[in-house]
Amino acid sequence: MTDKYDVNKILILIFTLFIASCGKVDQTTSPADSFPEATPENYFNTASAITLEVYYETGAEPYAGNRQNGQPLWQILDDNLEKAFSFRTRPPERNIPMDLASMQEIKDSQTSQWSADDVFELHQKLALTKPSADHARFYIYFLNGNASSSNNVIGFSINGTPIIAIFKNVIRNSGGFYVRRFVEQSTLVHEMGHALGLVNNGIPMQTNHQDTENGSHTMNSDGVMYWQNEGAADMANFVAKYITSGETIMWCPEVLADLQGFSN
Ligand SMILES: [Zn+2]
Repeated sequence: MTDKYDVNKILILIFTLFIASCGKVDQTTSPADSFPEATPENYFNTASAITLEVYYETGAEPYAGNRQNGQPLWQILDDNLEKAFSFRTRPPERNIPMDLASMQEIKDSQTSQWSADDVFELHQKLALTKPSADHARFYIYFLNGNASSSNNVIGFSINGTPIIAIFKNVIRNSGGFYVRRFVEQSTLVHEMGHALGLVNNGIPMQTNHQDTENGSHTMNSDGVMYWQNEGAADMANFVAKYITSGETIMWCPEVLADLQGFSN
């Protein structure tokens, strides 16, 4: 018995060494380690400027231009960010691109399945600017292909980083002319919500509204941070009321209460 036990122990040790040396498991670095300043405290206490940088692969360009009421489509995202930062004593200056000319085209990388590591690798290859505690920057990548987790996922935020991926093909297939445009904007709001730390992802909750089974999402299905809103079909239903009304604020009251409690 003793011998057998020792043999197993050695095998486990060898296996561990193999994994560590083959380079597939690297416990010492994660994408979040590259962004020590990407914290909700910086975003809601100290940063004096917030800049969004948008990059798009050829063929995956964001929708720009105006909505029916003559306002730029990207104003929807900006309205929601303005609201999120409105609880600060001195809200940060916001630099949000409003037209395609203010966004950066990049070459199609021919990637069909994107993991978080793939998107991080793309970011590192480009790495044009660096964020600081005073000047927060978010990097939004509009990509061809799909999330490796599911073909239904519209976008994701890499946890602990200011990096967001948006999958243009999923948006393109989400509905008619205005539905697609509003799905794109509400996805940007949702993923920025994750990147900013909403729903217990760094920003504590004033009331218990977290859908813990689904991560940092709210139980309030009327809010943009509801978990099914990461899928195309539910997001298309969610945006219906925003297309017809002039309303643009998509945060639920619970999320706004959290932001009010956290901001300085
Ligand atoms: Zn989500």
